[in-house]
Amino acid sequence: MKYLAPKTVEEATTLLAEHPGATVFAGATDVIPQLKAGRPEPEALVDLKKISQAVSVSDEGGHWSIGAATATAKLTGNKALAAEFPGLVEAAGLIGSDQVQSRATLGGNLCNASPAADSVPAMIANGMRAVIAGPGGTRTVAVEDIPTGPGSTQLQPGEFVVSFELDHAPARTGDAYLRLIPRTEMDIAVVGAGVRITLDDAGNVASATVAIGAVAPTARRVPAAEEALVGNPINDTTLAAVAEAASAACNPIDDKRGTIAYRRQVAGVLARRAVVAAAERAAASTNGASNNGETR
Ligand SMILES: Cc1cc2nc3c(=O)[nH]c(=O)nc-3n(C[C@H](O)[C@H](O)[C@H](O)COP(=O)(O)OP(=O)(O)OC[C@H]3O[C@@H](n4cnc5c(N)ncnc54)[C@H](O)[C@@H]3O)c2cc1C
Repeated sequence: MKYLAPKTVEEATTLLAEHPGATVFAGATDVIPQLKAGRPEPEALVDLKKISQAVSVSDEGGHWSIGAATATAKLTGNKALAAEFPGLVEAAGLIGSDQVQSRATLGGNLCNASPAADSVPAMIANGMRAVIAGPGGTRTVAVEDIPTGPGSTQLQPGEFVVSFELDHAPARTGDAYLRLIPRTEMDIAVVGAGVRITLDDAGNVASATVAIGAVAPTARRVPAAEEALVGNPINDTTLAAVAEAASAACNPIDDKRGTIAYRRQVAGVLARRAVVAAAERAAASTNGASNNGETR
């Protein structure tokens, strides 16, 4: 098994074309345990962490650009990003331990395509886009469209995610990610819920995105919950509708960590709590200059 370490996106796409049996990696916190567990060795491992574009975080050109191979520790340590998107950063900060986070990345979390990946509902809630490089050039795809099932993505041979685009949040916007794990830490989510809420002047919900993870083959949005929120205040009626919609959107597995009925119920509870947390952050938000929906 060869180790290849391209320094540019172009070099990486050339190497991947030359080695069709290669696997890209970033933190390798999924790849190495999988190889140790007996997954067949690829022809080559292509390290994305030497590509500066893939490991940098910038706030230029009207949006955040987050390198797909950036260690999550770098995201939790970015005060401006954490202030604007606390839910996203908290989700990234839940992945494993400090040691894992010195290597783990959003690109790996997404492309490993575990239904329980913690950062994915938070990325979906925030409308993040993946910038993908490959033999045909570059294309940009909504994060929610990347995983196609457990362990599978829509990435084509020779393609990899270079970075994520994240638009600045409108004024009076807040996000939140909550998960339930059976242990206090270092465990896989039984349910995860990512929410983003924008409030209008009257305190009603102007826009909402609700995404749930670990309860279906891929993380998914809950359109019925979003519809129940938009135009309404956060009250018992809307929260009950959110919980009902989130439970109904589940298509979970039944295993030792949670029955189907349990996962459905918890999805409703977590979606509701995440809406409350995101709405409280939206009300307290100092992002942007106005609440007319313009990005700052
Ligand atoms: C002890 C431990 C605890 C963990 N706890 C959690 C947890 O709480 N929550 C959680 O969600 N996960 C957890 N994980 C899993 C793992 O750490 C995360 O999924 C992490 O985000 C993976 O990132 P990585 O860069 O290490 O991925 P890698 O292992 O480098 O790659 C994972 C997969 O994605 C592909 N890939 C990587 N980067 C790209 C890219 N840019 N473009 C295309 N494909 C790419 C690789 O080919 C591979 O298939 C844990 C792992 C360990 C070992």
